[in-house]
Amino acid sequence: MRPIRSGDRGPAVTEIRAVLTGLDLLAATPGDEFDVATERAVRAFQQSRGLSADGRVGAETWRALDAARWRLGARTLYHAVPDPLTGEDVRSLQERLLEMGYDVGGADAVYGVRTSRAVAQFQREVGLKPDGSCGPYTMGALRRLGRKVVGGRPQWLRESDAIRQSGPTLVGRTVVIDPGHGGTDPGVVVPDGALRWTEADLVHDLASRLEGRLAAAGVRVQLTRGPAPRDCLPDVDRAELANSLGADVFISLHTDGHPGPAADGVATYHYGTDNGVTSATGERLAGLVQREIVARTGLRDCRTHAKAWDLLRLTRMPAVRVEVGYLTSPQDRARLVDPRFRDRVVEAIMAAVQRMFFPIERDVPTGSIDVSTLRAVVAAGAVRD
Ligand SMILES: [Zn+2]
Repeated sequence: MRPIRSGDRGPAVTEIRAVLTGLDLLAATPGDEFDVATERAVRAFQQSRGLSADGRVGAETWRALDAARWRLGARTLYHAVPDPLTGEDVRSLQERLLEMGYDVGGADAVYGVRTSRAVAQFQREVGLKPDGSCGPYTMGALRRLGRKVVGGRPQWLRESDAIRQSGPTLVGRTVVIDPGHGGTDPGVVVPDGALRWTEADLVHDLASRLEGRLAAAGVRVQLTRGPAPRDCLPDVDRAELANSLGADVFISLHTDGHPGPAADGVATYHYGTDNGVTSATGERLAGLVQREIVARTGLRDCRTHAKAWDLLRLTRMPAVRVEVGYLTSPQDRARLVDPRFRDRVVEAIMAAVQRMFFPIERDVPTGSIDVSTLRAVVAAGAVRD
């Protein structure tokens, strides 16, 4: 087929213009001419789809325009073999699932097996028949739990209920501690003198200290790696490990690095997207960890931030990643190599984990939990209240 291009007229042009208008790329004006505005809109469309932006509608652009007609909810979506459904509605669905923390691979507008699996998982979590197809009921549930719902995935809403109802004790909880990097990946490296530490070694030291403290308070603790693994475990596998252990809390430990020595401070990350979807429990844990560390160590407060990283997106429990200072900052590094300072960091994280299990109305001021009393409570044979 000859590409439809500038100067052409006819019903095909009218159709192209209608789709572009529906996509808000072209003003809604009558006419069947491929005019300058139409050409501009076609280029914009091609750019947005990663097609070569020549401003003409050939076979490939035509197929993409055709797929773009579909608005989410206009038809039932399902995993068709061997010709999977494609379209803008599939892309919208995938984006929404991604925002809610489901693993659809990517928003490629193709309703493949991963999308179908993610839909089934969503259906299971909201109590619908998990058939992996997206019809009116599933659409309704997606709409109700749509992007405006803070807390994201329904599972997380249940998580915060579970945490509220299970009482404030740490005994019997499972905490997965994730020392970042390791193996072939040392993380941030600062090769100078007596203060030479790699990020991988330093965060493993922090993780083992935290493990000891939490275990003494009756917590089941699992580390995602040993001190010197052969390979570096990918973040998806770390998340999968925490999920398979049914962890109550997931804490990933890192230190930051920057080309200049001036950057310093601590920051904590939780799951969330630019559209304001966030894991409510993750955000709370991040806030507690951040405030306790700042109060107990004096590291600069680089605040908490929402990120859609695999590690935070795929974990099904309150999960945070802490960047405990910059190894590239002489000031932070001097603190971090001091084992007493690392103990203070560990106490801060432990206090945050404890506060996570206090009901919000019984929460205590930052810096006020004496970590040594937590052990004493366990020694006295405390039970869940
Ligand atoms: Zn790191």
